[in-house]
Amino acid sequence: AIDARGLHKRFGELEVLRSVDLTVHSGEVVVIMGPSGSGKTTLLRCLNLLEEPDAGSVTVHGRTVDCSSARHGRARNRLIRDIRTRTAMVFQHLNLFPHMTALENVIEGPISVRRLPRSYAVEAGERLLAHVGLADKRDEYPARLSGGQKQRVAIARALAMEPEVILFDEPTSALDPELGAEVLQTMKDLAAYGMTMVIITHEIAFAREVADRVAFMDAGYILEEQRPNVFFNNPATPRARAFLRLMA
Ligand code: ATP
Repeated sequence: AIDARGLHKRFGELEVLRSVDLTVHSGEVVVIMGPSGSGKTTLLRCLNLLEEPDAGSVTVHGRTVDCSSARHGRARNRLIRDIRTRTAMVFQHLNLFPHMTALENVIEGPISVRRLPRSYAVEAGERLLAHVGLADKRDEYPARLSGGQKQRVAIARALAMEPEVILFDEPTSALDPELGAEVLQTMKDLAAYGMTMVIITHEIAFAREVADRVAFMDAGYILEEQRPNVFFNNPATPRARAFLRLMA
């Protein structure tokens, strides 16, 4: 579903990604772990071209953007827009419009971007809110929802775009453990349902249970990519061993 090849990204002098390759097949769950500043968020933002890599290519659902090419223009912008709508993103914070109810948040993308008729979007949006356990909160504004509920609305909002993949950037790290657990459960349900997901998280128990693979990043590289039982029990690199010792 996603194929990133040779991604490079620098911010001024700082080389944040130094040749990163990542392939995520349909239905796979890939967890990205690594120390602060290793480039995890930048990688995720490059996967949906929210950030443009300086070099490399990103293919989503068979559409490729070659970032090394100097060619810009309308066709390329259309391609980037298309990739963004196929790759929904759920962030740590600020996923919802505060002036819209839960349901309005969920149906906004389908109506304004996918151009679905409102009645259709409402029906689908109600179904998605029920799916994340929030049918009774459809008319609440975000300020009246708990952190965990807000994140679950954000997930419903992402799903409403019928994305090829959902990219999660530490969706539970701002939440108390109890509220985080609700969100992790919703993500487990999505995984069981076959959703393709790339997830930055420090939740080891969750990664062990749900990830097909763990990609460990350090200093702009993916140092290793392993099945979770291999990564957590017997990491290949000293950097990963040191990282896991700190997390324990
Ligand atoms: P964390 O776990 O702390 O979120 P991370 O692994 O996600 O870290 P990134 O957020 O990708 O790391 O950041 C990697 C490096 O790039 C950091 O040193 C950060 O300060 C820098 N960086 C990220 N975005 C920008 C930007 N827009 N401009 C300048 N530097 C940036």
